[in-house]
Amino acid sequence: YQSKSGHQAYALYQPELNQFSVERLSLMTELRSAIENQQLQLYFQPKVDLQQQSVIGVEALIRWFHPELGFIPPDEFIPLAEQTGAVRDLTHYAIAEALKYQQQWWDQGHKLNVAVNISALDLVDMHLPEYVSELYKNNALSPEQLTLEVTESSVMNDPDTAIVALQRLRDMGITLSIDDFGTGYSSMAQLKKMPVQELKIDRTFVMDMVTNDEDQVMVKTLISLAQNLGMSTVAEGIEEEQALTLLTNYGCNKAQGYFIGKPMSADDLAEWLAPPCDWLKTP
Ligand code: C2E
Ligand code: MG
Ligand code: MG
Ligand code: MG
Repeated sequence: YQSKSGHQAYALYQPELNQFSVERLSLMTELRSAIENQQLQLYFQPKVDLQQQSVIGVEALIRWFHPELGFIPPDEFIPLAEQTGAVRDLTHYAIAEALKYQQQWWDQGHKLNVAVNISALDLVDMHLPEYVSELYKNNALSPEQLTLEVTESSVMNDPDTAIVALQRLRDMGITLSIDDFGTGYSSMAQLKKMPVQELKIDRTFVMDMVTNDEDQVMVKTLISLAQNLGMSTVAEGIEEEQALTLLTNYGCNKAQGYFIGKPMSADDLAEWLAPPCDWLKTP
């Protein structure tokens, strides 16, 4: 059999690849309606202050509960949403939802900061700062209680653009955090120019640090780098008590991880926050 174009014939030998893109494409069309159909839900992971031994905030982590496909992890659909630009709507939605829950916690006496993850594309979304200030305008909270987390690779891809965008958000009082730090390729010259207040040490360094000396060295080095730049440090991925102890001794400021609390629904968080929560400091 001789096909008219070599190209077509080649495609015939790649049925899985083709189907995969079709699936991905339909997943993307569904993502927009998923927001409207309330298939997307924010989970919240506690963030604690190691020196004060108290819970100071939560990180919002998005979950997609698809009616047919079941749970789709963010690592699978966020990259697609970034490719199509849908991530901007998703970010707006995540910030609005996070604020809605944050108001409830404050009403209940839990003065929690809320952190929302944003993508590189959000940094070039000219509507984002205005959207956030509108959201906060009509309620008792202010953007000072909001943290935006952006990955190291997102900001370092185009540092000059990132600095301008981050500064605009910083001027509103938002706390800025560099996520997954240590896995990208940071230019130290650019890092020191970034208007960021927080550095999150990637969990790959934290997860095995109790038994791995090199990881310990990395963690200590990243903490002292952040300290010297006047940034606070968050360690993510704490799965055991010894890691928590080491990090506290190293002077790490904040921590997150399964050992402290897993990402959970707002209802479960309310339960987690209720006494006798280990990390509860009564205001
Ligand atoms: P991230 O922001 O670095 O979030 C931390 C990830 O580590 C989360 O995965 C969390 O569930 C997981 N984690 C927390 N503690 C531990 C631990 O002790 N051990 C281990 N092994 N893992 C832990 P998740 O929820 O699957 O999110 C993955 C990534 O997806 C996030 O990484 C973030 O980059 C992205 N993401 C999640 N929600 C959003 C969102 O609303 N918008 C955007 N743009 N990205 C999001
Ligand atoms: Mg994060
Ligand atoms: Mg306000
Ligand atoms: Mg991270």
